[in-house]
Amino acid sequence: MIPVSQAIEIVKQNTPRLKTETAALEFACQRILAQPIIADMDMPPFNRSQMDGYAVKASDTKNAPVRLRIVGESSAGKSWSGKLKVGEAVRIMTGAALPEGASAVQKLEVTSENGEFVEIFESANKGQNIISKGAEIEQGKLIFSAGEIVNASMIASLAAFGYANILVGMRPKVAVLSTGNEIVNVNQLPLPDQIRNSNTPTLRVYAEQYGAIVESLPIIGDELGQLKEHIKEAAAKSDVLVLTGGVSVGKYDLTKLALNELGATIYFEKIALRPGKPMVFARLHNTLIFALPGNPVSAVVTFLLFVRMSLLQLQGASDIKLKSGAAVLAKTLKGARERDSYLPVRLSIEDDAQLIAEPFKWGGSSDFVSFAKADALVIIPQNTTIVAGKIAKIVFL
Ligand code: AMP
Ligand code: MG
Repeated sequence: MIPVSQAIEIVKQNTPRLKTETAALEFACQRILAQPIIADMDMPPFNRSQMDGYAVKASDTKNAPVRLRIVGESSAGKSWSGKLKVGEAVRIMTGAALPEGASAVQKLEVTSENGEFVEIFESANKGQNIISKGAEIEQGKLIFSAGEIVNASMIASLAAFGYANILVGMRPKVAVLSTGNEIVNVNQLPLPDQIRNSNTPTLRVYAEQYGAIVESLPIIGDELGQLKEHIKEAAAKSDVLVLTGGVSVGKYDLTKLALNELGATIYFEKIALRPGKPMVFARLHNTLIFALPGNPVSAVVTFLLFVRMSLLQLQGASDIKLKSGAAVLAKTLKGARERDSYLPVRLSIEDDAQLIAEPFKWGGSSDFVSFAKADALVIIPQNTTIVAGKIAKIVFL
């Protein structure tokens, strides 16, 4: 049995990086940058008006109300090319370029146009309603680094600086394979001693969330010959094979034996973790294999702690750690002997902005119904009790 931290280290050390490819901007969300993103121009690219109104010399408006001669118009995409002189104003729209010689924009609401003149009722300060060239970012500056995960809020920058195509890490091909004589398909009515396959659809969705291209394979029974055949076949066509079930010590727990007989390299098979003690990390040729416990909560916890990280590293992500934090425990939690516990909690924020972690009254590692309400896992180190009111470390889900 190895500590969680060591298991994380082993997964890191044995996960390679896939090649890179080009993704079109509209398909780049959730992909991992394999190139730095640099501003190819100043933003804004010109001194830009933030308002509809009049471009003026601020000094001309000092003794407002004042009357200025309208000498032109600057609208977005169609700027006025002249140079503003004393006593003049240019009609200007939001997003338009500020004419040379102007130092402020006075908003339309405090003006009145009358023939070739405009009355400015309030004085304008220098720079008012103008965003100057390069104020947001200057040409040549680094915006995002290789290794960052593209999210929705980054798309505008990628678009504005001309990244129609972006170099990203390739998406890992992941096969998900659930094993167990008692497991039946979701669309089947289970016999009294059977249960529906909740692991395959769950792990599929999780793997997709972290960028994988997933194939869900048919359920395999607890039979050594079949297991070997299907594991071999699945591994041959994927970068990562996620198995569930059959990794414990029962008579029909044959996954490890199948991996051994196939000649897989087994990196570890037991982690000091609750839930999720039996978990095999192995490699068969170039395919990483994660054989997760069958219990649905254990399968998800081990996925999040180990498989998630590996999928991100395959794509070249620089930050592969789960986001962690601290919260005040609402109830006393007793840790396990010799295993670190990662238990589901619900988070809330009290008036004093303190994060509170409320543990579930839950039925253990098979209780996926309770788990569905969890926001985070609270970490209770082995042989430790954390009492209500004390701070505990959490990882966000
Ligand atoms: P095992 O790891 O094979 O010992 O299974 C542990 C528990 O998880 C048993 O109660 C199984 O019935 C259950 N289980 C195994 N595989 C699945 C699955 N694909 N979907 C839902 N529950 C499962
Ligand atoms: Mg089983």
